[in-house]
Amino acid sequence: MRRPSPPPSDPRVLIFERGAPGRVNAPQMPRPLAPPADIPSTLLRRAPLALPQVSELQVVRHYTRLSQRNFAIDTHFYPLGSCTMKYNPRAAHVAAQLPGFANRHPLAPESTGQGVLACLFELQEMLKDVTGMRAVSLTPMAGAQGEFAGVAMIRAYHAARNDLARDEILIPKAAHGTNPATAAMCGYRVREIDVRADGDIDLVALNAAIGPRTAGLMLTNPSTLGVFDRHIEDIAQRVHAAGGLLYYDGANLNAILGQVKPGDMGFDVVHLNLHKTFATPHGGGGPGAGPVGVGERLLPFLPVPMVGESGGRYYWITEKTRPQSIGRLSTFAGNVGVLLRAYVYARLVGREGMARIAHYAALNANYLLERLSRLGFEPAYPGRRAAHEFLLTLKGLKERTGVTALDVAKRLLDKGYHAPTIYFPLMVPECLLIEPTETESRDEIDGFVAAMAEILAEAETTPELLKAAPHTLPVRRVDEVRAARALDLVWKAHPASA
Ligand SMILES: *Cc1c(COP(=O)(O)O)cnc(C)c1O
Repeated sequence: MRRPSPPPSDPRVLIFERGAPGRVNAPQMPRPLAPPADIPSTLLRRAPLALPQVSELQVVRHYTRLSQRNFAIDTHFYPLGSCTMKYNPRAAHVAAQLPGFANRHPLAPESTGQGVLACLFELQEMLKDVTGMRAVSLTPMAGAQGEFAGVAMIRAYHAARNDLARDEILIPKAAHGTNPATAAMCGYRVREIDVRADGDIDLVALNAAIGPRTAGLMLTNPSTLGVFDRHIEDIAQRVHAAGGLLYYDGANLNAILGQVKPGDMGFDVVHLNLHKTFATPHGGGGPGAGPVGVGERLLPFLPVPMVGESGGRYYWITEKTRPQSIGRLSTFAGNVGVLLRAYVYARLVGREGMARIAHYAALNANYLLERLSRLGFEPAYPGRRAAHEFLLTLKGLKERTGVTALDVAKRLLDKGYHAPTIYFPLMVPECLLIEPTETESRDEIDGFVAAMAEILAEAETTPELLKAAPHTLPVRRVDEVRAARALDLVWKAHPASA
């Protein structure tokens, strides 16, 4: 008789909760070895290791089911604003995992690694091209580490000129939290700049803050509000006139690839999030790569190693020839696997493809913004064209129905959609930051619109349904305060299975 598979609400998420005593794949298990005589008996295990007692088939089913309970870009629309959760072509993974790459020892000599060095060199060149910068170092291993490298270079630049009174970094209120954290880690005082109601930087506030203490300005453009600051040339001019440098947070580069270059906007240093813009799966916080590019003034300070080329031979550029470098950020060359994926991706799409990425990212975002606005959702910056993502505010909905951004996000899970980013940026109340990315089809986006329409109707008629969502997932509404304050990650044997 065919037994139904466990319903999706089967609460057993731990492998220990399955199986029964003695149910192991005995023939396949290595026999326990006798302990070596030189291990003191006090260090020897007294009771057998509490391994789960499950058959191979149970293990396969358990982990396959767990993977299906997850939301992933391979299974679900994933409009997580600011994170650019786009589809990563399999070809990039396959190429990056070629044995010649994957098995290479990081200390192997240059002469045996000309292929991988050539790829990294070409990636540096391509990133110079898309950012309009003079040179690129690939070594930072995340956007945040790229930021650290960038601000450390700004600090090194001022120090090299003996311009030591500059102790402030200006950062707009809308910025990602890593920006002020970076400035503080580099020893700077953070000065917040207001953003106007239309999403652009408040130039009056900027003027008031700029001065002889200004080391630099960190800016994301398009910003995390989803709009492109129209006064960027003016801003760059003002910061430079005061002797400061401009830092470009490139997390939103997806929006402007092949359209406009940070170098042309006047920036002196940029970081890119290759895991966002250039194809690397980055759920759960990693892995990533945050290369930095610089203009003329910061060239001597780039982190090492970089890759150089001379007469068709590729070589590592190290601190030996770069005495002013801010130094190393990792033991070897950074996350080379991620760099190779980015390289293959860039080669796959080509220069024309780069421009298409931004076109479709912007088209999808603006189409979705328009459809949701017509349903009655309220854009946080009405009248502004979305860059590649946009902000809605549910302030009005909350006042009317009590339904919050969190409730809508949880209800979306019931309907088969990963939630957008919520409550970020902090300055916009009850916000959803929605980024469909260029890799979604119109069908997929229309499905999301339909789900949002249903949720809006539910908010008006049965708000309590939303307050208790999700209803269909194995884990229901989590008490977030308890989850943070009383986190319990230790598994204890259930009396029945002990
Ligand atoms: C993601 C992001 C960062 C940080 O990048 P990580 O790679 O996560 O360290 C910085 N700024 C913005 C705007 C981002 O979206």
